[in-house]
Amino acid sequence: MINNNLDVIRQNVAYIKQSIPPGVLLVAAAKTRLPDEVREAIQAGISIIGQNYVQEAEIMRQAISDPVQWHMIGHLQRNKVKKAVQLFNMIETIDSVRLAKEVNKHCASLDIIMPVLLEINSGKESNKTGILPVNAEKLILQINKLPNLRIQGLMTMGPRFGNPENARPYFKATKILFDQIKERKIPHVEMRYLSMGMSNSYKIAIEEGANIVRIGTVLFGERQY
Ligand SMILES: *Cc1c(COP(=O)(O)O)cnc(C)c1O
Repeated sequence: MINNNLDVIRQNVAYIKQSIPPGVLLVAAAKTRLPDEVREAIQAGISIIGQNYVQEAEIMRQAISDPVQWHMIGHLQRNKVKKAVQLFNMIETIDSVRLAKEVNKHCASLDIIMPVLLEINSGKESNKTGILPVNAEKLILQINKLPNLRIQGLMTMGPRFGNPENARPYFKATKILFDQIKERKIPHVEMRYLSMGMSNSYKIAIEEGANIVRIGTVLFGERQY
């Protein structure tokens, strides 16, 4: 089963790469995958691995020695930050001052600067992580003072729909927010990355301005929990 799947992963990477324009970064969302699968994806050209859980990332990093980048794309708990800052090259899911301060503290003690994205709850769903769009600029101004963070953009999941066209308004709204913050030219804030779109929605997200897409299922196959 595994070997067949590895061939499929290779083809999938090739397919996705030809379907996204140059300049759009592809993050392989690797939750629940085996190290062999992730290694195969890397050999096929993947250079950024996204992980949702610190513990899973730790195990994966021990198994993968290739020079790839690691992005935290899941909700980060404050008691996992100390480990997280040693494992990840970017944290895409900053959504509170408290979390940002914790990241800053541990990065300071390691003398590193962590690129971060703000996670936006673009669907304004009460049970979802991320901050409400209306609070984004305020949060940016608050965490911009933290010397060991570097704000580099926004990330959003958006509500999940069977028909990805229904996600388009949320991507559009997040791009407008991204542009508004960018236009403010806040010192030290680099609005470079807009991370949105997953397997069923990445093409629409790119049309709406995403330059990071996070893809799991189309790359690795259906997840088996
Ligand atoms: C799992 C996950 C993805 C990828 O989802 P697929 O539908 O499998 O492509 C993207 N972003 C985040 C935050 C995820 O947890």
